[in-house]
Amino acid sequence: MLRLSIRSFSLSSKCLTNYGFIGLGQMGQHMARHIYDNLESNDKLYVYDTVASCTTNFIKNVTENKPTNSSQLKGLNSLQDFTNNSKIDNKQLDFIITMVPEGKHVKSVVKELVESYKKNGYNNQIPTTFIDSSTIDIPTSTEIHEFVKTEIPEFDFIDAPVSGGVAGARKATLSFMLSRDSINDISPSLVILLNKMGKNIFPCGSKHGTGLAAKLSNNYLLAITNIAVADSFQLAKAFGLNLQNYAKLVAVSTGKSWASVDNCPIPGVYPENNLPADVGYKGGFITKLTRKDVTLATQSAKSKDRFLFLGEIGQYWYDKACEREDIANRDLGVFFEWLGDLQLNEKGELIDEKRK
Ligand code: NAD
Repeated sequence: MLRLSIRSFSLSSKCLTNYGFIGLGQMGQHMARHIYDNLESNDKLYVYDTVASCTTNFIKNVTENKPTNSSQLKGLNSLQDFTNNSKIDNKQLDFIITMVPEGKHVKSVVKELVESYKKNGYNNQIPTTFIDSSTIDIPTSTEIHEFVKTEIPEFDFIDAPVSGGVAGARKATLSFMLSRDSINDISPSLVILLNKMGKNIFPCGSKHGTGLAAKLSNNYLLAITNIAVADSFQLAKAFGLNLQNYAKLVAVSTGKSWASVDNCPIPGVYPENNLPADVGYKGGFITKLTRKDVTLATQSAKSKDRFLFLGEIGQYWYDKACEREDIANRDLGVFFEWLGDLQLNEKGELIDEKRK
């Protein structure tokens, strides 16, 4: 009983918490690293990715960097291992965080975990909370929430998407958006967990899915401003302006935005910030994930009978961009470079000189 009360109510550093982390990609590897680096002496972290090398590389990197916590970290080989007492040192996990690409991935992961808990047995005195930080559609997230609540009512599934990008994940400055009315509705142990990975927690409303609603509204804005930023820099280039100087001017002018400054698409403007533009737009928030978000936002607007000025046109350009693999799989700042490859011919047709 004492252990239970410590787990649930203490904000001190004495919590005994067992974490699971699923999805060690661009974002997840950094988020899980911060959990690892900030484990309390009795905490444990179990990690898994379908790509086995992501798990092994993660373990190698973090343990080399902080060997003192290595006995508190374990890589698992399957989702079933998360519910198998012999694999998780006989301690049911308090939190399992998912950071995977799409709703279908979250659904299959959580479904398999819940079914596996039901098969292997679970302790409903120490209920497991699933924290989904992926950006997915609200109907799928709601369906998963209802599935969890129906199958194991003591467990919970909370949408907790993030903003801040890979740079925010790397620096532990992410903002979390949660479907809770106020910070007082978020358990202290969850606040401790989120604070390891980010610096802001925004309660967005009591109904499941409000965290995702905030995330989709924000990412719609990002996707659209990213197009305008590419336009603006190509216009400046057509005028013959020095683009690095122009980027510095935008940074203190009304065109300032995350897409134009924090993720400036012009190489060499902020070399100290390690931006995707300085490494050929590799890594970062890839175009095909941005397409997913603008599509989800536009579809959600339709389901609310709300048309958006730039929803369909934005979706059109992200769909077009994703027809080219080299654009689809690079950071969204690559729109500046891609626009440079595009021309309209005399018939007004779009010609992409790099498209075979
Ligand atoms: P990513 O593709 O780099 O990483 C996803 C990881 O999940 C991969 O390593 C993949 O192997 C793993 N995975 C996929 N299916 C799995 C499964 N069934 N079980 C276990 N692992 C599985 O993607 P990312 O950029 O890290 O983004 C993850 C999520 O976060 C997406 O929903 C994305 O929209 C969102 N997001 C991304 C950013 C960003 O800047 N990259 C920012 C905010 C939110």
